[in-house]
Amino acid sequence: RAKRNGRNSVHHFGNEQAEELRERLSIGSRLRDAVRNDELVLYYQPQVSSYDSRIIGMEALVRWDTKDMGLLPPRRFIGVAEELGIIVELGRWVLRAACREARTWHDFGCNDVRVAVNVSALQLQRLSFIDEVCDALESSGLPADLLELEITESAIMENVERATEIMNALRELGVHLALDDFGIGYSSLAHLRRFPIDKLKIDQSFVRDVAQESGEAAIVRAITAMGHELQLKVMAEGVETAAQIGYLKRNHCDEFQGYVFGEPVPAARAVTLLKRRFLGPDLASHHVVERG
Ligand code: C2E
Ligand code: MG
Ligand code: MG
Ligand code: MG
Repeated sequence: RAKRNGRNSVHHFGNEQAEELRERLSIGSRLRDAVRNDELVLYYQPQVSSYDSRIIGMEALVRWDTKDMGLLPPRRFIGVAEELGIIVELGRWVLRAACREARTWHDFGCNDVRVAVNVSALQLQRLSFIDEVCDALESSGLPADLLELEITESAIMENVERATEIMNALRELGVHLALDDFGIGYSSLAHLRRFPIDKLKIDQSFVRDVAQESGEAAIVRAITAMGHELQLKVMAEGVETAAQIGYLKRNHCDEFQGYVFGEPVPAARAVTLLKRRFLGPDLASHHVVERG
């Protein structure tokens, strides 16, 4: 079998697009093997309650540990995986690995911490996805209630009927559903009301400027109010500063995820965080101030 040596065997194009295409092709051809050869790694980022900074969940975020290009972030290969259909197999691997890991948290006493797993559009169009979720739960022994699937509006809108059917089935299993990157998609409010979801994750682009009383602040307030009106939990993602925390708490956001509470970390480090259960000693004093 011919071994491809990406950098040297291909002509060096002068323009950026050609360069990008070359990288995508080379990545795509290696990705399928990577899934099988266990080159993927899951990192975990804490999700906390806004009321007491307690860890209530961990989002599994995939990385690709390549031998020659280092640890690749998902933006370097998830798009390619989606284009080539590899995302189905990759997603199945992520789901199983995340459930297995979360079961170990459960076993050492964190029996109410959910693992959140990202689902891509293609997975959400296949009825067999329901079986894959069942299998992952059964083989790991993780209670369905401790799995949260993060789905984007755009993934649902690719095929609303099918996606809703699948979401209903997952909900019946007891799995939780969150709408990821909420606010940048294009589902109508009429749709939103019918989606069988538990949570809105406000996209980080709105969270960024929230402390400046900007248009973003108004959007976050509106999303939060609407989410609560629909009996949904509301989580802010991409929370980076104490000022953002303050604003979000004043506006009754239920849950936070972001660098200020912790970046995505390898599984072993995630266990250390979980054994502590509460994040950010500096944030403890912040609570006292905000509660007044
Ligand atoms: P996402 O699901 O919206 O995940 C949140 C992303 O924001 C993560 O990037 C996380 O590291 C980053 N993030 C968290 N807190 C902060 C913060 O305070 N500031 C900033 N600037 N960023 C923050 P990551 O790990 O690079 O993942 C990017 C995207 O790749 C994810 O966005 C998700 O759409 C996709 N992805 C990751 N893992 C998987 C997977 O297993 N399957 C699928 N289908 N997609 C995945
Ligand atoms: Mg996500
Ligand atoms: Mg997101
Ligand atoms: Mg995102």
